[in-house]
Amino acid sequence: MRATLREIVLGCRSLLVGMRVTMVEFFKPVVTVPYPHEALRMPERYRGPIELVRDPATGRAICYACQLCARACPSGCITVEGVKREGERRKRVTQYQLDFSLCSLCGACVEACPDAAIRFSKRYNWATPHKEEFLLDLVRQLEQESR
Ligand code: SF4
Ligand code: SF4
Repeated sequence: MRATLREIVLGCRSLLVGMRVTMVEFFKPVVTVPYPHEALRMPERYRGPIELVRDPATGRAICYACQLCARACPSGCITVEGVKREGERRKRVTQYQLDFSLCSLCGACVEACPDAAIRFSKRYNWATPHKEEFLLDLVRQLEQESR
């Protein structure tokens, strides 16, 4: 009988200690993000797939298809094409393809661009079993963002 009582007391004490820990943790600030209901804020230096930068003055891509980024890429995953229109000083990019399945996020392309026309995006929640979906058309992506 005495042993049973002792066990009951010990059990209640253990329960109260557990409840105290739970209550202390319950009122502490939350450190996790309820993904996917809330998006993560990626750090400044985070490297997602590269994206074209828009010129705020024209609303178009800054890129003028000089090919320097494509030449600097060690994996050969960039294809750039552009056209020079009459009266314009520089070409306009018409196609900027990135094969992200080959990209190592090394940053050589971003460093090679003389006009900061590309940057790393903050895209992080991207997965697919289809390799061809990693072939990105960055010009179209920029156009879609402006709609
Ligand atoms: S980050 Fe590196 S591998 Fe990826 S596209 Fe740029 S240069 Fe190529
Ligand atoms: S992103 Fe920069 S380096 Fe690459 S083609 Fe455009 S202007 Fe040239």
